[in-house]
Amino acid sequence: MSSKKPDSSQRTATRLVTAGRDPQAHFGFVNPPVFHASTVLYPTAADQVAHRSRYQYGRRGTPTTEALEQALMAIDGPACAGVSLLPSGLAAISTALFAAVSAGDHLLVTDTAYRPTRTFCDSILKRFGVETTYYDPAIGAGIEKLFRPNTRAVFTEAPGSQSFEMQDIPAIASVAHARDALVLMDNTWATPLYYDAFGKGVDLSIQAGTKYLGGHSDIMFGTVSANERAVGRLKDTAGTLGLCAGPDDVFLALRGFRTLGVRLAQHQASALKVARWFEQRPEVLRVLHPALESNPGHALWKRDFTGASGLFSLVLKPMSDRAVHAFMDELTLFGMGYSWGGFESLVIQFDCADYRTATPWQPGGPTLRFHIGLEDVDDLIADLDRGFAAMAKVS
Ligand SMILES: *Cc1c(COP(=O)(O)O)cnc(C)c1O
Repeated sequence: MSSKKPDSSQRTATRLVTAGRDPQAHFGFVNPPVFHASTVLYPTAADQVAHRSRYQYGRRGTPTTEALEQALMAIDGPACAGVSLLPSGLAAISTALFAAVSAGDHLLVTDTAYRPTRTFCDSILKRFGVETTYYDPAIGAGIEKLFRPNTRAVFTEAPGSQSFEMQDIPAIASVAHARDALVLMDNTWATPLYYDAFGKGVDLSIQAGTKYLGGHSDIMFGTVSANERAVGRLKDTAGTLGLCAGPDDVFLALRGFRTLGVRLAQHQASALKVARWFEQRPEVLRVLHPALESNPGHALWKRDFTGASGLFSLVLKPMSDRAVHAFMDELTLFGMGYSWGGFESLVIQFDCADYRTATPWQPGGPTLRFHIGLEDVDDLIADLDRGFAAMAKVS
């Protein structure tokens, strides 16, 4: 059962159950205890002076954090050399970027990155002497022309936040690696289950564990996984910054990990059914979901991804905000709130126009982002149908 080394003969669903578990190490109980810990006591003075102990200090790891790190490594694949656990997805992003770049470096970031990623680049990284250029997510191998002698890293995210553009990450990675730059990816949407980041050339793979890993809208959490090339820098950076995740959140992330596979499969199936239903609606101009055949990113999604999660957007035909809000206010099963990846359905209205800089954002109508939860999908569709009826009563 103990998975000090992930068993590569096991399929993913099995690894989600077995990885990171060693019941005999804690009296046979199925799950590890939650270690609330700072001080670790040494048995003798000689041990203390020599730091001779399996664990040194709470911030540097406990049996609880070790269990989750081993579990995550088992699904990140054989190229994963280490994982750092962080107190939020944004902390995972900033830690990975701090690990990748230094003063005087140039950084390339997709224009469709999660907005707070941009804020970090435009404020703290800028203040520390790192220059960021935003690029069109569709650039592919053409990213070569944006490289400068001091370009040290490329930040990718696929599909893009809010608008779901795809990226040819293998093409970008081969350009970056030829110039000895690191490739970072925000892999929160697909998770390692549906996108093999290391197999596609990513060096530092980020998950906002707040979303699907937690899965229940009750934790803030982040992870960064690194390959052999980047793991030393990742561990040094996370350790030096003094970042560590709280033990209860680590435990809840590990609990979420066990059911990640079945939850994602259901989010995927329900979201596709709702997305296809939206495609038939007269109120809808376009559905922004890469697993739909109509999506411009579909070929890349099909080539590189093994699944789709429950988050997508749509563009409504031109209409008043009053009509859009009548639709949203009528919904009873879709909460209106940020974040996503929990068991419940959500909707927000969004607009990328005020922060994208490399690509124009002209969708042609109001835009809504949906997270499709684990409710019965036909109940969700009935709720949305009532929403459209309310929309029709407003001009
Ligand atoms: C939510 C999110 C984050 C940030 O995660 P937090 O835990 O909220 O800090 C990062 N990337 C993406 C794509 C997200 O959706």
